Amino acid sequence: MKIESLCLHALRDVSQNKGAVSVPIYQTATFSRSAVGEGSGYDYSRVQNPTREHAERLIAILENGTEGLAFSSGMAAIAAMMELFSPGDEIITSEDLYGGSLRYFDLISEKNGLKIRRINTSNLSAVEKSITEKTRGIFIESPTNPMMNITDIAGVKRIIGERPIILMADNTFLSPYFCRPITLGADIVIHSGTKYLGGHNDTLAGFLVTANSELGEKLKLIQKTTGAVLSPFDAFLIIRGIKTLPLRMEKSQDNAFKIAAWLKQHARVKKVYYAGLPDHPDLEVSKRQGTGFGGMLSFSVDSSETAERVLSRLNLILFAESLGGTESLMTYPFTQTHSYIPEEERIARGIDRKLLRLSVGIEDPDDLIEDLANALS
Ligand SMILES: *Cc1c(COP(=O)(O)O)cnc(C)c1O
Repeated sequence: MKIESLCLHALRDVSQNKGAVSVPIYQTATFSRSAVGEGSGYDYSRVQNPTREHAERLIAILENGTEGLAFSSGMAAIAAMMELFSPGDEIITSEDLYGGSLRYFDLISEKNGLKIRRINTSNLSAVEKSITEKTRGIFIESPTNPMMNITDIAGVKRIIGERPIILMADNTFLSPYFCRPITLGADIVIHSGTKYLGGHNDTLAGFLVTANSELGEKLKLIQKTTGAVLSPFDAFLIIRGIKTLPLRMEKSQDNAFKIAAWLKQHARVKKVYYAGLPDHPDLEVSKRQGTGFGGMLSFSVDSSETAERVLSRLNLILFAESLGGTESLMTYPFTQTHSYIPEEERIARGIDRKLLRLSVGIEDPDDLIEDLANALS
């Protein structure tokens, strides 16, 4: 089956076999047994719940993985994953990352005795040089947030070779519709399900998908022990969101191409960062490792005054954090998603007061462009 059909039919209601077309919400904390050794296979909803299990198995199928694990947010998923490592382990990460991941690595992982090395993972020789005897993990995001840098996932895997290094790929921006990192050699795929998987700006969720059951079982033990699991209702919303994932991804991408082209010719726009543009330095890598470029773009305007004016004048596009939903959202990374990074470093990396990030929704593209034109005028 192709992914469009898998999003709808990969799993039927697995728990009770009543034929429900929409997955039931098992809003229960616990499950009774009729006798010792008897039971439904479910005990307590932190350990497993049928609605959550459906979401977990579905994402595992879509990502070509063995196990899926659902958490209460993307950060909860990342926090659980980092429990795989021990004090003294070294982790290499992309330097351009979602701000919350950077903050997690700096504040929590370092305190827990991990050594985090941030590098430009688009540069494979930099990856190779950064690996030491103690390296146990490489964490990449592709495209990165907000600069849209691309990492060659299969290239990183080739460098890792047989070394005991777990390759972790945050696939939030492309979703399994456009890219499946496990097929390129990733060991764990991470999602903020809050974004494209849920897709409606209405719930928080996080997922991990593993390439093998050894990692899957380790993470399940961590999941039930640390406990930040996805609730049955939120699992239902994610399952419902996934039904339209292909349609939404296609429409967002179509709109993003049109908006990127329009922004490029605007006098007040100095640079457009979009993975699908012909002048993107890693366009060929993107084409090789996926079937699309997604609906996220960033752009730099001529001054911080212009940036602030745009944010206050937008009407259709909402000035809000987050991404990947039906509604287009504009973010100001400098004061929002990336405010945690020291100012000097933010500016050096291009995350300055002139940079705006746009999560392109599924509105009519002409309406979106008209809104941008008014805001930029
Ligand atoms: C939003 C986001 C996260 C964090 O997910 P939450 O659901 O907000 O906790 C992680 N990675 C990326 C790329 C994100 O965009």
